[in-house]
Parts: sequence; structure tokens; C-alpha cells
Amino acid sequence: MESESPGERPDCLACGLAAGTVPLLGGTLLRSPHWTVEHCVGPLGVGTLIVKPLRHITGVHELGVEEGAELGPLLTRVTTAVRTAVGDECEQVYVCLWSHAGRVPGHIHFVVQPARTSDIDRHGGAYGPGLQGALFAEGAEPETAAVEEFCGRVRRALGAG
Ligand SMILES: [Zn+2]
Repeated sequence: MESESPGERPDCLACGLAAGTVPLLGGTLLRSPHWTVEHCVGPLGVGTLIVKPLRHITGVHELGVEEGAELGPLLTRVTTAVRTAVGDECEQVYVCLWSHAGRVPGHIHFVVQPARTSDIDRHGGAYGPGLQGALFAEGAEPETAAVEEFCGRVRRALGAG
């Protein structure tokens, strides 16, 4: 049985952000019947978005038929909006899913991350998982104003798509 009510797990950060019980910088960017889109709270840089199911599930194999059917078009739409919002610096958009913090399966969330020329150059040409590792090692939380500004741009891009 599928439930679409966010926040069903009070101990889950992803549920809390979706339900609004934990402050979310930039706010909800898009919501479909089964998924929600937010700016990433981690150190993966301004413009990295999260696409996650409203339901607290910890594996892609747990997705229901309707959840799965929404996913492809949603990832395409969000990735297109990220490319538009980032502009010329966007060499690629990475879409990945780890959800394994502390080796424990967590609320799944697809990371939609722009690979920017400036980030790659700053980290000695690192790209792909190497770039993600470098950004996590750097540990810099994105600046509030920059996240809010980006969220405005990506909202306009989502609205146009
Ligand atoms: Zn959750």
C-alpha cells in the first residue's frame, strides 16, 4: 500500500524536509503526486538538486508502479532545468543515487548535480565520482543567497518546461 504523505518518519531528515518540519533552503521546487524536488542540503555545490519520493522508502525496488512511471519524465525535466539554470558552465549533469549513509539504506533521493567547469578546474580536473569525493572532502555548504538565487532560476526553467 502506498502512502503519499511526507514526513511519515519523524527520525528521517528527507521526510522532515519534505514535510516542512525541517527548514528547507530554497523551498520545494516542484512536487508531483509521488515525488518532490528540493535543493541539496549537502556540500555538492549550488545547483545540485534532490529528487525523492514523498513516501519513505529505502530502495528503488520498493517503488510502486505509479511512482516508477513518474520518475523518468521527472528526471528528464529536472535535468533539463538544471542545465538551463546553470548555463554555459554546465559540462554534464550527473544523476545518481547512493542513499547509504553510514552503510545504512536511507530514504532514497536522486542527486541531480551540475558538473561545472569551475568546480572541475578547482579540483584539479576531477570529474564524476572523483568530483563528488572532492566536494565532500571540501565540505563547503552552499551560501544561502546563492542557493535562493539559483532556486529562483531553476523554478523559472521548470515553469518553462
Ligand atoms: Zn524518509
